[in-house]
Amino acid sequence: MKFEIITIFPRIFDSYFAESILGRARKAGLIEIKAHDLRDYAEGKHKKVDDTPYGGGAGMVMKVEPIYRALGSIISNFQFPISNKIPKTKNEKTKTRTILFSAKGKRYTQGDAKRLAKYDQLILLCGRYEGVDERVAKHLIDEEISIGDYVLTGGEVPAMLVIDSVARLLPQVLGNAQSAINESHSVAGELEHPQYTKPEEFNGWKVPKALLSGNHGEIAAWRKKNSKIRKT
Ligand code: SAM
Repeated sequence: MKFEIITIFPRIFDSYFAESILGRARKAGLIEIKAHDLRDYAEGKHKKVDDTPYGGGAGMVMKVEPIYRALGSIISNFQFPISNKIPKTKNEKTKTRTILFSAKGKRYTQGDAKRLAKYDQLILLCGRYEGVDERVAKHLIDEEISIGDYVLTGGEVPAMLVIDSVARLLPQVLGNAQSAINESHSVAGELEHPQYTKPEEFNGWKVPKALLSGNHGEIAAWRKKNSKIRKT
């Protein structure tokens, strides 16, 4: 699966995706992650990607044209240059999904991670400044995602979060496939039971007896009892 990030800070992603499970998945060719510098698609000497908001107000807004050009270069069936009828990637057969990160978007859940894991290519557009010209949301992308009800300085952390949660659901990315099945939110609203490891006692704090019993039935019953159901 390919993750294509559009950002003005492409180096932010280097260290996170070089480590651990996702670093290994990249080396093994299970996933591909590419950060595209939006400035490469901006025109003029200053490679301007933002401008002042119409109607006035604080801060700058990201311009539509560089984003249009970036999408034109990344999406294979995107008609470029210039057509007012840009093919949206809504058609499921294209297996490409274009996402804009926005504090105003739909709240991201594990269900979305499962849904997005079915695509071949995810294009993740990271906003900065006061956000992105609304014509991008209206005409160029498939969905707007928020990672929670708070405001960040940019869409790069949301992009890392979506890539991480989607990539670990892909075949062979996790060492043990069961890990992604029996965990919190794999069924909406259900949370995993508490986990313990050695030693059996630390500082007077003991591991629950049932987990030490070696009795599979007893262990399963304890885990079931101690899993939480949360209303979503
Ligand atoms: N002025 C915007 C507003 O009030 O909604 C906030 C812009 S924020 C400073 C800059 C960028 O960070 C956004 O365009 C978006 O890409 C990203 N961002 C901030 N908070 C986010 C969130 N909760 N979920 C997803 N993306 C977020």
